[in-house]
Amino acid sequence: MFCVECGKEGKIFRDGVCVDCYLKTHNFSKGPQIIDLSICPHCGSYKYKSTWTSDSFDNVFKRWIKHLFDISRELKKPEITTECEEEKERIICKVIITGFLDGVKITEEHNTIVRMKKDVCDVCSKRFGGYHEAIVQVRANKRNLTEEELIDIRSHVEDLVRTMQEKGHRGLFITDMGKEHGGIDFYLSDKGAALTITKKIQESYGGEIKKSSKNIGMKDSKQVYRMTYLLRLPSFRKGDFISHKDSFFYISSISRNKVHVLELYGWTEKFFDVKEIGNTNILGRDELIKEMILVSQTKEEIQVMDPKTYKTFEMRKPKNISFDSKKVRVAKIEEEIFLLPENNANDK
Ligand SMILES: [Zn+2]
Ligand SMILES: [Zn+2]
Repeated sequence: MFCVECGKEGKIFRDGVCVDCYLKTHNFSKGPQIIDLSICPHCGSYKYKSTWTSDSFDNVFKRWIKHLFDISRELKKPEITTECEEEKERIICKVIITGFLDGVKITEEHNTIVRMKKDVCDVCSKRFGGYHEAIVQVRANKRNLTEEELIDIRSHVEDLVRTMQEKGHRGLFITDMGKEHGGIDFYLSDKGAALTITKKIQESYGGEIKKSSKNIGMKDSKQVYRMTYLLRLPSFRKGDFISHKDSFFYISSISRNKVHVLELYGWTEKFFDVKEIGNTNILGRDELIKEMILVSQTKEEIQVMDPKTYKTFEMRKPKNISFDSKKVRVAKIEEEIFLLPENNANDK
């Protein structure tokens, strides 16, 4: 058969013409040459219709194409691909639409310019307005938080918020934070996330959580409450030496309400409840640890020398082990000297 348009011999597609000639006069997709897309300059979210999303540009752009382009129902298995190049405030895109017409694959290309419009998103405008549903307060019992704890807790909270945001919790943000009454406060946009965060800090520091709420008015005919989660950390910390029931202990870790300790006479590991040793006597920390030179050792005993005073001390080993290094660490507590395990050096 010959095409009535171009005269080529071949398969006639429709209306007596070949597929190439048919496509010269027929389009199966059309769309706007310019698309306006809102982007939040603060968080980089894009807007699709009336909804802000942290989805990628490609995905949001494709959603807009599906919404704004007319793709003929005749085109079977339509697929959209895009090739975009950024140019200042606009993005020059090629929108490629493919599909099948009577089993013949068809490709149509459109040049589309995406104009980026800066617009503050719903979440960022809430954040700038100081919106917060909950306050997380971290304090310590009978003491101020140390600088190290403040830095650590702060980065812990920031990491948790970032992880939750990445998992799709777009509405979560830290409105404000700051040192307060020897501790630290975090103002958070979401109360559920705030409680999760408080529990996570408790997991690594121990302590007790107290909840309180404050009625802050009505919204959509419902009472709105602002929550405060107060986490009170124990007075003692990981790395403290404590005395309890005629014995001395080194705190090797704290999690939730369990305190993991090392008993210093026999090097036995134990757990205490935070409450059980709540009013414990804290003897000190690193400042009690001294390095001694190992002079000699037998199976049961060890002799060490203070490098500053050259005084030597003999003591029983808490356990039947051999010390490998030339230096050993001891803790000097109330005129008594306790050997410390070698691996505790990195365990402060
Ligand atoms: Zn033809
Ligand atoms: Zn934003």
